[in-house]
Amino acid sequence: MIATAESPSKVCYACGQELPIDQFRHRRRGRSGRQGRCRACYNAYMRGYRAARRSRTLCQFTSLLRRRTSLNRLAGLCNANVGRFGGLDGLAVAWKEHIDAAPPGSRTALSAFSAIARLLEAVDAHRLAPDYAALSDEDLQREIQRLHEGLLLQQSNVIA
Ligand SMILES: [Zn+2]
Repeated sequence: MIATAESPSKVCYACGQELPIDQFRHRRRGRSGRQGRCRACYNAYMRGYRAARRSRTLCQFTSLLRRRTSLNRLAGLCNANVGRFGGLDGLAVAWKEHIDAAPPGSRTALSAFSAIARLLEAVDAHRLAPDYAALSDEDLQREIQRLHEGLLLQQSNVIA
């Protein structure tokens, strides 16, 4: 785009393009009162910045999850992060993106999966017993099998 005297221009330091001044966001500090990056570059930069921040938060979250032993602390940690990501869906989406972005077999990916396994284990261990009288025959059969498998697993842990 060609700038005239009436519409001053500025060169973006990120992409090097000369653009009309309104393509640069306002900034209180600085000589020109405008950002050094054009709007497109600024937006791309901020997307990267926010993604990196989310990633750091999730790394910290998964690392803490793996080390928390009490259910109360696990619940507190989960609640804090559900709030931080604007709800359970937000956390789930961010967590999935975090895992997708991590190279397979990387420390980040393994840490995320072991945190999920830790969560499942904790939830399963503290699951309330169902109302057996209200279960259908099939569900009762499944529940018996689940308890049986749990006992077998405990037994093999004791032997090992
Ligand atoms: Zn630019």
